[in-house]
Amino acid sequence: MAEAGSFADRVKQQADIVRVVGEYVRLKKSGQNFTGLCPFHGEKTPSFAVHPVKQIFHCFGCGKGGDVFSFVMEMEKCQFPDAVRIVAEKCGIAIPRPKERSPEERKENQQRAALVEMHREAQVFFVKQLESTAEGKAARAYLEDRGLNAEAIARFGIGYAPSGGDGLLRYLKQKYPEKLLVESGLVSRDQNGRLFDRFRRRITFAIANESGKVVAFGCRALGDDLPKYLNSPETPIYSKSNVLYHMDRAKEAIRRQDFAVLVEGYMDAIAVARAGITNVVASCGTSLAEQQIKLLGRFTRRVVVNYDPDAAGQSATERSLSLLLEQDFDVRVLALPPVGDKKADPDLFIRERGAEEYQKLLKEAPPYVDYLIARARQMDLSSGEAKSRAVNFLLPYVQKIPNRILRSEWATRIAQQLRLEEPVLRAALSKAAAERRSELKLQPELVGRAAKPVERRLIRMLAEAESFRHELAQHLQNARLYHGLATEKIFAALVIAGLSGQPFQATEAAAVLEERDRRLLFEILFEEASEPSWEEALSCIEALQHRQAEQELAEVQRDIEASPAGPALRDLLTRKQELMRRLAAAR
Ligand SMILES: [Zn+2]
Repeated sequence: MAEAGSFADRVKQQADIVRVVGEYVRLKKSGQNFTGLCPFHGEKTPSFAVHPVKQIFHCFGCGKGGDVFSFVMEMEKCQFPDAVRIVAEKCGIAIPRPKERSPEERKENQQRAALVEMHREAQVFFVKQLESTAEGKAARAYLEDRGLNAEAIARFGIGYAPSGGDGLLRYLKQKYPEKLLVESGLVSRDQNGRLFDRFRRRITFAIANESGKVVAFGCRALGDDLPKYLNSPETPIYSKSNVLYHMDRAKEAIRRQDFAVLVEGYMDAIAVARAGITNVVASCGTSLAEQQIKLLGRFTRRVVVNYDPDAAGQSATERSLSLLLEQDFDVRVLALPPVGDKKADPDLFIRERGAEEYQKLLKEAPPYVDYLIARARQMDLSSGEAKSRAVNFLLPYVQKIPNRILRSEWATRIAQQLRLEEPVLRAALSKAAAERRSELKLQPELVGRAAKPVERRLIRMLAEAESFRHELAQHLQNARLYHGLATEKIFAALVIAGLSGQPFQATEAAAVLEERDRRLLFEILFEEASEPSWEEALSCIEALQHRQAEQELAEVQRDIEASPAGPALRDLLTRKQELMRRLAAAR
C-alpha cells in the first residue's frame, strides 16, 4: 500500500498509469478510458481497460485489476518495493537512498553482494578457460560431440573448470578473503586446512537466479570422474530448492505462452531451448521442490513434464506429478519414444530426431492421467491382487483431480483400460475422494454478482461526486440503506471513504474488499456514465427506500400470518398500514 506521504505515494501521484501500462500494452483511447489486449490472459478482442483519471486498470476478461504498482508487480513478477522503484525510474522520479539498516543486516547484504560478484568473476574465469586453454580445447571437442557449437556455448555461458585444482582459487584469492571463498562453495578446504577448487576437470553450467545473476554452478565431469554431476552447495545466495535452471531466460516466454516445459538437467534445458522452445526450465536434480513449484506458479499453472525415461526419471516424474497436482497445476507428461534401442532424454532425442519432431510430440503430450494409465498397464495385471496394486498406484493421483465430473470420466477410463469392474473402482475412488474433501480449499467465486442499476449508480457517485460525496455517504449511513444488498460491503467501504473527507482512491477503498467485490467495484468505475447530480442521488435513494419498504412489507406479512391475536399482531398490522401508505405515496 502506498501510505500517504510516503515515497510510494509520491510516485503514485506523479506517475501516469496510461504511460506506464502503455510500455507493455498497446492502448487505444476509447471514450474516457484506454483499452487494449490484456497482457495477463490470451485474448483477441480487448477487454483490458485503463482509467486515466482514477489511475486504475481492470480486465473484464480475467478480472485482474489494480493501480500502477499492482500492474508492474504482475508484469515484472516482483514485489511492491521493486514495483515502486521501477515506476519511479520509468517516470524519472529520483529514488531516495535506502535507510541505514542494522549493522548485521548491512553486513549480510555486503556479504551477499560480494558472493554474487565473486560468482560473476568465476563465470568469466570458466568461460575463458573453455575458450583459450589447451584443456579447454578438449572440453570444447566434447561439447561439440554433444551437439553444442560455439554459438550455443556462448548463448548459455558454458565454461570449463580446469584440472589443476587451484586455478580459480588463485584467480579469486587476490580479491577475496579465505573465509568468503569457502562460504561461496567455489572453494573447499581439505583435512590439512588447505584450500582447493571445488570443481576440477568439469564442464560448468552457470545457474542464475530469477533476475539473471549467476549464483551457483552445475558441473559435469569431462571424463569418467565421479560423481558425474557436481553442483554448488547451499550458500547464502543459493538454495537448490529455490532455483530453476534457465528460469531467468524462460520467464517471459512462460508467461506469454502460459505453460512451461519441465526437464531434469542443464543439457536437456539447453537442447529444448535451442529447439526453439524457450519456455523450458530444469529442476536440476531428480526431485522437484515445493518452492520451485511456487516459483513456477508465479508465471503459469500449466506444465509439461519431460523427465528422463529411466527408472529414476520415472519415479521423479511421478513424485513431481503429485506435487504439481497438489498445487493445482494442469499437468501433461511427455514420455519420449526410444531412439533406436536407446531410451531418450530430451537432449538425445532432439539431437537424433530433430527439433521439429520434438515440438510435434510436445504439442501432443497427453494429460498426466493418460501417462499414469500407460504406466499402470505396464504392471502385472494377471491376478486380482496385482490389479489392486495397479489401482492403488493410480488412486492418489486421480483423487487429486479437483473437478468431480473429470474425476468420474477418468474412473471409467481406468476401469476400461485395466479391465476392472467399474463399481469396485468407483467405491475405492469415492473413499479416496472423501478423504481428500477435507483438504479442499474453496475457490473464491470470481464472477461478479449482479448489482442493480440503482446500486451501481450510487456506488459511482460515492466514488466521484466530489460536491456531495460526503453528504451522500452520511445519508446512506443514517438510513442504513445499503444493509442486506449484494453490494453491501462495497457500500460500506465507500461510505467510510466518503465520510473521511479524503479524496477518493479506488485501490485504497478496494484494499478492504474481497476479490469478487473489488472486481465488481472496478467494473462499475469503468462504466460510461453521465455527470452525477444531487437530484439523481435523491431519486436513487428513494428507489432504495422503496425496495427496502417492499422487503419489510413482505416480512411483516409473513409475521402477521404466523402470529396469534394479541398486542404483537396489532403492532404488526399498524406497521403494515404504514408501509403500504408509504409505498402508495411513492407511486
Ligand atoms: Zn485479462
